Amino acid sequence: MGVSRHGFADDGACLACLYLPTGAVKNEHERVAEELRIPDAHQEIRTPLQTRRPVPEPFVRRVAAAFGVPFDALQMFVGQPVQTFYRNAICGGLMVGLTGGAHAGMAVVPMVFQSALAGIMLAADLVKHAAGMPAASTTTTRINLLRPLAPVLGDPRAKDTSGRCICCDRDFLDAYRRRYRLT
Ligand SMILES: [Zn+2]
Repeated sequence: MGVSRHGFADDGACLACLYLPTGAVKNEHERVAEELRIPDAHQEIRTPLQTRRPVPEPFVRRVAAAFGVPFDALQMFVGQPVQTFYRNAICGGLMVGLTGGAHAGMAVVPMVFQSALAGIMLAADLVKHAAGMPAASTTTTRINLLRPLAPVLGDPRAKDTSGRCICCDRDFLDAYRRRYRLT
């Protein structure tokens, strides 16, 4: 997690540069179905995900069976949107609690506190900016929560050089300059 700083129409990396995919990325319905351990159901939950349609009881029963947890523990999600079910059961850590984290195979580990820490870092950068203090010299300041705190947190990221990023697109740049009256 971390905080990054961008000018867009300068020589630095833009926000999109940092997340430019280098290969095929899974669709949301595929990722959610996998994390709910019913990967074959990805087409089935595609529309409910898009329309926030509530999940029926048989669906919740299948997820409970896939995780090996009693249906009673998940019954509260019947009739709720898929997003609510997914967010609370997986992202909120309910499944880790129910399975004791000991279920064989991959576990999705919630680290919701990292969003809070990223918010604190962003607030610190905004206070610095508002106070007229010089901006950090690196594009990104990053902390890896799975390792000890590194002595250097600055992560200089270069602008994308493949030409695929929006910051290399003349139309995007023209619109940006017009919007912020930079021309
Ligand atoms: Zn870019």
